[in-house]
Amino acid sequence: METSTPDLITAVIGFRQWRLCGEELWSFRATERWQRGVHSAHCLTDAHDAPAHGCSCGIHPWYSPAPRGASALTPDLVAGAVALWGQIELHAHGMRAQHAMVVARALPCSRGAKRRWILAAADALEVPAVPARRLKAAALAHGDVIPRSMRPPDTTPNKRAAPGEPAPARLYAVADGYRERQARRRDR
Ligand SMILES: [Zn+2]
Repeated sequence: METSTPDLITAVIGFRQWRLCGEELWSFRATERWQRGVHSAHCLTDAHDAPAHGCSCGIHPWYSPAPRGASALTPDLVAGAVALWGQIELHAHGMRAQHAMVVARALPCSRGAKRRWILAAADALEVPAVPARRLKAAALAHGDVIPRSMRPPDTTPNKRAAPGEPAPARLYAVADGYRERQARRRDR
């Protein structure tokens, strides 16, 4: 779907988990490294722009933060929030987006090496690392979450399915001004 007028004018906020490799941040399946600045989706199976309808490409965030225990008990999983824009397809459990930028990281309660690595990774990304309970509030300074009324209905019995290919999907365009607004915010 091509649209020239965006449906949403502020960045959309989503939540993800990454894998820490030392101080580096990698995607959940460790196929892509996330670095400072904009992360854009590419389709690995076709030549189309990501995300494409009917494909599984795109950056996959959830609508709300993963349960706190999900990453706290693992040595290498880290939770965080992203600002999303460009083309975004909404699914029952999450989204598939074209562009993303990490806006906040969640810190574990423990004070071990993992905490130090998350702080170092957050430093490299120039994003704040906050206690998990404040993740959503920190993220909301950068955009809005998708309201429940805009999300397609859940048609699958498995409530914990990862965002991917579940049935009815809607494609929205989100204003591409996020980077510019960030730059203006810094100049102020
Ligand atoms: Zn694709």
